[in-house]
Amino acid sequence: MTAAPVCLVVSDIHGNIDALEAVLADATADGWTGVICLGDLVGYGAAPREVITRLRALAPEWSIRGNHDRVCAGLTSASLFSPVARAAIEWTRDQLTSDELALLATLSPGPLPFSTETLLCHGAPQDEDFYVLDPADARLAFAVQRARLCLHGHTHAQTVFRLNGPALLDETPARRTRCRIPLTPDSRWLVNPGSVGQPRDGDPRAAYAILDAGTMTIELRRVPYDISRAQARIRQAGLPDMLARRLEDGT
Ligand code: ZN
Repeated sequence: MTAAPVCLVVSDIHGNIDALEAVLADATADGWTGVICLGDLVGYGAAPREVITRLRALAPEWSIRGNHDRVCAGLTSASLFSPVARAAIEWTRDQLTSDELALLATLSPGPLPFSTETLLCHGAPQDEDFYVLDPADARLAFAVQRARLCLHGHTHAQTVFRLNGPALLDETPARRTRCRIPLTPDSRWLVNPGSVGQPRDGDPRAAYAILDAGTMTIELRRVPYDISRAQARIRQAGLPDMLARRLEDGT
């Protein structure tokens, strides 16, 4: 499979259709032809079926499973989840058809090569459940990452780590709406586009990225969406209220 030159990169949508629609509207004019999804389509949010239907229509050629997708599909148990996450995933499982659960079960565990220069995973190349939160975590990931770029999700924070020779640099941009980063060949790069549906980096706006695999540049983006609508869905579904509250704080 040949990698599309320009791709929409989404991760951690978590059943938030309002955030996903805002991302798609924001990215309409960008000429992307491929979609990369780094996992956690479901869990927490109250519109899992809508998210799966919308993503299916986009036909992502590169799709990784997240830990919530895996547990929802019944591949592993929810015993390590917090009570809130477990309640949400049990509710989600009850909403989905067997066909939708089967789709979650067939997502790749990663790491998945997108091209010779780019690797895709949910948590980190060495472990799909590993959280890359800081430079020390990134160093562990770089110990196994050979590709120039690894795109990952899982932490719900937009982050950019760079290994330049022995130097490990945190190049996460300050809070901005758009930030273009050239992924120069002198370094290896570990980039998290952030979470579409439940950001936890203090910025409640939906996060995503556009990757130009031809020029090897990535643009990290934020877009506002109708948070009150997503909150109303969560409350109407009877899911734990903190899942609604945290959306407006971005935590
Ligand atoms: Zn997640």
